[in-house]
Amino acid sequence: DNKINRLEVKQDKRRMKSKRKTEEHAAFNGVFDSFTLVNLNKILSKGIINEFVGIISAGKEANVYYALGEEDVPLAVKIYKIDPQNTKWMKNYIIGDPRFKKIGTSTHKIIYTWCKKEFKNLTQMKRHDILVPTPLLSRDNILVMEFIGEENGTPAKRLKDIDELVNPIEEMNYILDQISKMYLNAHLVHGDLSEFNILYFKGKQIIIDVSQAVSIYHINAPVYLQRDIKNVLNYFSKFIDSKHVPDVKAVFEKILKNV
Ligand code: ATP
Repeated sequence: DNKINRLEVKQDKRRMKSKRKTEEHAAFNGVFDSFTLVNLNKILSKGIINEFVGIISAGKEANVYYALGEEDVPLAVKIYKIDPQNTKWMKNYIIGDPRFKKIGTSTHKIIYTWCKKEFKNLTQMKRHDILVPTPLLSRDNILVMEFIGEENGTPAKRLKDIDELVNPIEEMNYILDQISKMYLNAHLVHGDLSEFNILYFKGKQIIIDVSQAVSIYHINAPVYLQRDIKNVLNYFSKFIDSKHVPDVKAVFEKILKNV
């Protein structure tokens, strides 16, 4: 009768899910190291991630996946590669940051710190009303965050891929304001801000890729801040008459004057 039927449907669902997971894991074999696989399994078994759907981006440092969480809520899962090549330059953005005193020497440890750093930076930015994906979990080299994009899993475009801006001056001022808030309120400097690391979705600009963001007390913070401002102004100057684009130094000094 109805009861049995429902039970069968439930069992079937579970079986399909477990089959799907096995297939997914087969697809991941050879891609991830055994540590990452163990952790992925733990996160999957806890139900934080229900299903990996597809890959959004394959980069040098990390891959980003589109996944579904509890109640099929869309997620972005960033998995950092355990690659010694990456740790060399990463150290420059970790050493000198008062939040990370002990980082260890192994490739694993440094990458785990890097991942935790991105989680902490996202949390700190979010707390100060900077528009970034909401961080949900970090475990070793795996970061789970809010997915920015369409309900069908299409990720938001990067600012770089947008042909036309409705109101470029407003968009520029918004990002300059985010940089200023990041410095003055969250006490952070992004360090790699450009049209490549800003998503554009439903008329909003969302800042991503914040792993390298440093504390304002980091020795290179002023250099990174100027570089971020320069990149952003460079990008917007393609859409805005130069007389409406401020000078890098003026923006920089205005921020520092408000400390
Ligand atoms: P790259 O090496 O290309 O700079 P990365 O390894 O530093 O990448 P991110 O820049 O954080 O990683 O992410 C890579 C890409 O994945 C982004 O350009 C963006 O298209 C997509 N992406 C990242 N986070 C999200 C998110 N929360 N929602 C939707 N898409 C995202």
